[in-house]
Amino acid sequence: SLKPGRTILASSIAKLYLEEIKTRVAALRAAGRRAPLLVGFLANDDPASETYANWTGKTCESLGISYELRKFEDRDYLEEGIMAANGDDAVDGIMVYFPVFGNAQDQYLQQIVSREKDVEGLNLVYYQNLYHNVRWLDDARQLKSILPCTPLAVVKILEYLKIYNPLLPEGNQMYGKKCVVVNRSEIVGRPLAALLANDGAVTYSVDVNNIQKFTRGEKLKFQRHHVEDLGDNSPELLQEVCRDADVIITGVPSANYKFPTEYIPEGAACINFSSFKNFVDEEVKNKASLYVPMTGKVTIAMLLRNMLRLAENREKLAQ
Ligand code: NAD
Repeated sequence: SLKPGRTILASSIAKLYLEEIKTRVAALRAAGRRAPLLVGFLANDDPASETYANWTGKTCESLGISYELRKFEDRDYLEEGIMAANGDDAVDGIMVYFPVFGNAQDQYLQQIVSREKDVEGLNLVYYQNLYHNVRWLDDARQLKSILPCTPLAVVKILEYLKIYNPLLPEGNQMYGKKCVVVNRSEIVGRPLAALLANDGAVTYSVDVNNIQKFTRGEKLKFQRHHVEDLGDNSPELLQEVCRDADVIITGVPSANYKFPTEYIPEGAACINFSSFKNFVDEEVKNKASLYVPMTGKVTIAMLLRNMLRLAENREKLAQ
C-alpha cells in the first residue's frame, strides 16, 4: 500500500554537514596548516565501539582529517593515555569509547578529557551551559559553547525535518511543538529534553521509571527549562503524553523494546537514536510523516563539527 510519509536516512542529513567540514578543512590546508588530528581511545571489547570507531576513521579520511585509534588492552592505563593527549599540541580532538568500566568511574574519565579537546561535548562546563541555556563560553560572546554530540545531532535532524521553525526567533524555534523523548540518560536523553525545552518545546521525558515534563513555562516566561514529575511510567500515562505529540524520539538500548505504534499520532515525526530498532519499521512507516531510523552518521558529523569549533575557539583565544 502507498505510505503517507517518508523515511529519511541519517546519511543524507550528515552529508550537508560533512561537505561544510570538508570545505573548512581544505581552507585550513590551503593556508598551510596541518590536517586536524582526532584521537579515539578504545579500552573495551564492545564490537559496537569498534564499528563506530571504524566509521569515524573512514569519515575523517574522506574529509582530510587525521584519525588515530589508540587501543588499550589494559584499561588501567587509559587515564595516562588521555592525559598525554591533553598535553600534546599535535592532538586537536579526543574521544573515548564508552563504556570502559561501566560504572561511575566512566564519568570521572569523561571529565579527564581536556575541555579544549572534548569533541563529544561531555565536559561538565558544556553540560552546565546546556542545562542553563547559556550559549557562549565567555562574557564577550566570542566563543560558542559546545553541545554533547548526540543530542546536538537530534536537534540538527529536527532542523532538517523542518520541525524547528526558522520563521520564529532563534531560541524559540520549537515554540508550539510537543516532543516525547524515551530515554533519560545523562549522555543523551536528559540533555536532549532540556535542549528542546530551552528552544521552546513542551517535552515529555520518559525513562524506565517515570515521566517528566520539561518546559520554559507559560508563554516561555523562563530563561531556561524547568522540570515537573508527572508520575510513574505506565502505558496510560505514556499514551496520554503522546496524544498530540509532533515528535517521538526513542533511545532504548534493548533489542526487545518496541515503542507502541498505536501511541504514535498520525503524521508525527519519529526518530530513533538507539543502536536497536525501537520502532516497528513497517508499522511506523504507515503512521509517521517523517521517520529517521538511525542517527549515528549525524552524530559523527557533529563531533567533527565540534572539533572545528574547538579549534576556532583556541585560535580566538590565542589572538
Ligand atoms: P543508557 O543505558 O544510559 O540509558 C537508557 C535510557 O533508556 C535510560 O534513561 C532508561 O531509563 C531508558 N529506558 C530503558 N528502558 C526503557 C523503557 N522500557 N521505557 C522507557 N525508557 C526506558 O543508554 P544511552 O547511553 O542513553 O544509550 C541509549 C542508546 O542510544 C544505546 O542503544 C546507544 O547505543 C545509543 N546511542 C546512540 C548514539 C548515536 O549517535 N546514535 C549515541 C549514543 C548512544
